[in-house]
Amino acid sequence: MRQTLRELVSIPGACGFEHEVARYLVARLKDRADEIWVDGLGNVIVKKTGGHPGPTLMLSAHADEVGFIVKKIEPNGLIRFEKIGGHDDRIILNERVVVRTQDGALRPGVIGCISCHMMKFDNAQLVRKHSEMYIDVGARDAEGVARLGIRVADPITWATPYEEFGENRAMGHGFDDRAGCAVLVNCLETVDFSQVHGTVYFVFSTQEELGLRGARVASQQIAADVAIAVDTTAASDTFEAMMDDTLRLGGGVGIKVMDFSLLASVHVRKKLQRLAEAQNIPHQLEIFPGIGTDAGEMHKEKAGVPTSVLSIPSRYAHCPVEVIDLGDLTATRDLLAAFITAMRTKEEFAFLA
Ligand SMILES: [Zn+2]
Repeated sequence: MRQTLRELVSIPGACGFEHEVARYLVARLKDRADEIWVDGLGNVIVKKTGGHPGPTLMLSAHADEVGFIVKKIEPNGLIRFEKIGGHDDRIILNERVVVRTQDGALRPGVIGCISCHMMKFDNAQLVRKHSEMYIDVGARDAEGVARLGIRVADPITWATPYEEFGENRAMGHGFDDRAGCAVLVNCLETVDFSQVHGTVYFVFSTQEELGLRGARVASQQIAADVAIAVDTTAASDTFEAMMDDTLRLGGGVGIKVMDFSLLASVHVRKKLQRLAEAQNIPHQLEIFPGIGTDAGEMHKEKAGVPTSVLSIPSRYAHCPVEVIDLGDLTATRDLLAAFITAMRTKEEFAFLA
């Protein structure tokens, strides 16, 4: 799974530009799928039919990552850009990025800033808006940018490489949510579906970071009886004033109780808790109103779908360097596989069950 994660985060896939991620997933999964298709928004949907009758389970992890887009090329060769997804303007200065051109070339760049020698002439309290910043792709002028193949509307993502470090941890960009995608790929490739009761749809959704857009249309194509999203979530175990130490990096998979997009189904959540306890899978409950996931759309489909989320704790989400614990990743995979194997009937998830 680590190698899968390493491969997935090496593929640029800003919101709306998930094409290469989709190509990777289709090539990797097509021989294992009972059906596989890519819908109009780019969601990759894989159907796996179990050996026994049972409920229809929808799983979703989002294939997109936060990024930027080329907005304007200035005469001196510097590039103005717009955000795609949520970024904190305080941390994007002087970070390395990569621009994907229309012919598929990856052009490195850096978000420019003033040198330290200029600081005494600046307002030290000022946080520049991204609209005042620029990306330097090493061009001498606008014609040079054109020679590099870079045009307005090209997508931009962080350039940080994947690296394992410390005690079983990994840093890099795009773990939100290629880590969830790696979990889905691993379950799809390792679970014995001849023993599964029901049908499982694995969705690699698009445009989650812009408002769960892919999950909305994927849900409409799958009449799910029960659903689980797999996504990273913010660990709260560092020292900032708002951190309440309720979700720890390395504390195991987060089982969602609530966030701003979802109150998890009590039955789905309790089944996940029982399975984690029975199989000694490290887990923790997540109550965090600061985040939403694909589940926010999945549970509202048709007559309502009992839904929860498995959360992979992460630090520094959407930043050039995110950190996850690889033990949490394994725990997430183990609990998802346990749920897929243990489901029997849709009635067990009914509201009054
Ligand atoms: Zn996410």
